[in-house]
Amino acid sequence: MVGKLIVGVDLGGTQIRAALADGEGRIIHRTSCLTLAEEGPGRVMGRIKGAIYKMMGATDRGQVQGIGIVAPGPLDPWKGVIMDAPNLPGWKKVPLKDLMEEEFGLPVLVGNDANLAALAEQRFGAGQGIADLIYITVSTGIGGGIIADNRLLLGAQGLAGEVGHQTIEAHGPRCNCGNIGCLEALAAGPAIARRARELIKEGIETAITDLVGGDLDEITAREVNQAAQAGDPIAIEIFRQAGFYIGVGIVNLLHLFNPSLIVIGGSVAKAGDLLFEPIRATVRERAMASYYWENTPIVPATLGDDVGLLGAVALVLLLEHNSEYFDGLSTGLE
Ligand SMILES: [Zn+2]
Repeated sequence: MVGKLIVGVDLGGTQIRAALADGEGRIIHRTSCLTLAEEGPGRVMGRIKGAIYKMMGATDRGQVQGIGIVAPGPLDPWKGVIMDAPNLPGWKKVPLKDLMEEEFGLPVLVGNDANLAALAEQRFGAGQGIADLIYITVSTGIGGGIIADNRLLLGAQGLAGEVGHQTIEAHGPRCNCGNIGCLEALAAGPAIARRARELIKEGIETAITDLVGGDLDEITAREVNQAAQAGDPIAIEIFRQAGFYIGVGIVNLLHLFNPSLIVIGGSVAKAGDLLFEPIRATVRERAMASYYWENTPIVPATLGDDVGLLGAVALVLLLEHNSEYFDGLSTGLE
């Protein structure tokens, strides 16, 4: 495996990114293009192939061990079939793994983006050497991955790890997923922006208003963070509240899985201590007993925007470890 290369693809609703990386997670070449998902699966598939060909062309084909693809869920990680991706219109039961294996004649592995981000952080990032960790991404949505005893928890149908859709407020706001009071509906970027708009409409003064020139529709979590970093007390309070809800969610996860590390990534996590301090305070206050949290640091992710690509790479690297995370995964190598 040493010296072998892997092509990783991050299929997102906005962008397709691809990279050629080595077994240490070092990216040697990369490319990206717009997904233009509205043009349908056929055209998007063509762009994915184009990106992979570009990466294959950058090396000797015999060096490429496999292709990993991270995609938005829900998907079947064993068969590599995208079931129904909300951000990719028309993608219903698309056999991505089979189509790409046919095209490239190499093993292709497909996984859920947030699940595989957990794998990436464990292999290359904040969680190296940790056998029990939970990764949470907080951005437009909240997703995650649970690694328990060195295995990525997939569940019976590969749908496990939806940490953002645990119910936090049983009578809270409706979530995009259809459930009520999900963590995502309370603490993801859009919820943070919504809270800012509500407060401004109530007549509360905050620097956020000036950052968008008074156009409240322009408010995103980014502006709230900008104001918070500059010391705006309202913006700080909005992050404190989001951190509180995330902390409540993490208490659930600590009680259920007893991990030894929690890693938090995603654009909203860029708020740093303004988000992490209320998270940690809530966990200390609410967890059943101190042994659930005192040896379980809650830390920022370290892989940044490359976490998807590196998740795809980490997935292919499982092939050398007897599929220790993916028991029964069809690797195409048997
Ligand atoms: Zn939900």
